[in-house]
Amino acid sequence: MDAHQDELSNPFGMDEDCRNCPALAACREQVVHGYGDAGAEFVFVGEGPAAGAEATGVPFTGDGAGERVQRVLGELGFSRSPPDAAEPDLQNVYLTYLSRCRHPDRAATDEEVRNCEPFLNAELRMINPHIIVAVGDRVLRELAVEYTTRRPDSFDVVEEHATTIRGRGFELVPMIPPAEQTDEQEAAFVEHVRENVFSRDYRQTKGRRSR
Ligand code: SF4
Repeated sequence: MDAHQDELSNPFGMDEDCRNCPALAACREQVVHGYGDAGAEFVFVGEGPAAGAEATGVPFTGDGAGERVQRVLGELGFSRSPPDAAEPDLQNVYLTYLSRCRHPDRAATDEEVRNCEPFLNAELRMINPHIIVAVGDRVLRELAVEYTTRRPDSFDVVEEHATTIRGRGFELVPMIPPAEQTDEQEAAFVEHVRENVFSRDYRQTKGRRSR
């Protein structure tokens, strides 16, 4: 893997012509790999690119739902760009997906998610974040299997939106998918991170040097 870690777009040089899922490779416009600060403390993981992100090539951009996430990033001090920027100027945050190719008519299958897992695992290993924002039930359950001792079916992203769940090595903060979020739920998320994450030393779980 060729690292270009000073670049925001696909900073780990992941395969932009991956064909491990033939059905997705046949219909996608482009692979949407991760984007952001390769040394981030916060990683947002979504289920997969919507049409807007597939067009821009940047996770959580290109449509109204993406703008909601970008607005949250701005409010939390992670972005210096307006919410509708196609290539936002991010710091201390990284955006990525469970599966990186979009099918226009369906969600990724479990097999496709498994095929794509090595990309996500490699990103998380190289970034070593403190906080992972799991966007949506599917992401929350996939990460729960890997990083918590709770049963995956005990998670519900609506009930656990804007809360903190302790995991092995980092903490999970669930988020309702932005396309389904109300303005009140968006505000609750920002408030939770400001009041309950930023306000304490979330780095202590790692013993990692402060940035
Ligand atoms: S979804 Fe992931 S594994 Fe499947 S073709 Fe796209 S990049 Fe490759």
